Amino acid sequence: MAIERTLSIIKPDATRRNLTGKINAKFEEAGLRIVAQRRILLSREQAEAFYAVHKERPFFGGLVSFMTGGPVVVQVLEGEDAVAANRRIMGATNPANAEPGTIRREFAEDIEANSVHGSDSAENAATEIAFFFTPNEIVG
Ligand code: GDP
Repeated sequence: MAIERTLSIIKPDATRRNLTGKINAKFEEAGLRIVAQRRILLSREQAEAFYAVHKERPFFGGLVSFMTGGPVVVQVLEGEDAVAANRRIMGATNPANAEPGTIRREFAEDIEANSVHGSDSAENAATEIAFFFTPNEIVG
């Protein structure tokens, strides 16, 4: 297995409930390192661009409103097989289907307000990391 990086976002439902530390503990306990992190408010343009792949989906408008409705924490996680490892730590998109112990099972409110985003492939991870961070902002 290779050392990889992946893009993570702690979503507004989680920052609102002050869960940033508990979520970060899940990453660190699983062996991922937080090598970049910034708390920001996404603009509508940023959220629409970030989720452009979903723009024809019925939930797109709601998703953009949700993601711009409060602070998010954008972060780069580094570790062995980080893309897949983070997807395991997050759990299924719908928290009702997420495994016990996963972030979404423990913290998510529903299928939209599901507490975290994580890149779903190494290729998307590279694109998503570059969307938020310059190379010199990532310190491994
Ligand atoms: P992810 O990779 O597990 O985050 O899932 P997707 O890439 O399929 O969806 C992106 C995000 O859109 C999810 O994390 C949810 O916040 C939201 N989402 C996905 N499916 C639905 C849905 O059926 N309804 C609503 N309201 N939101 C959804």
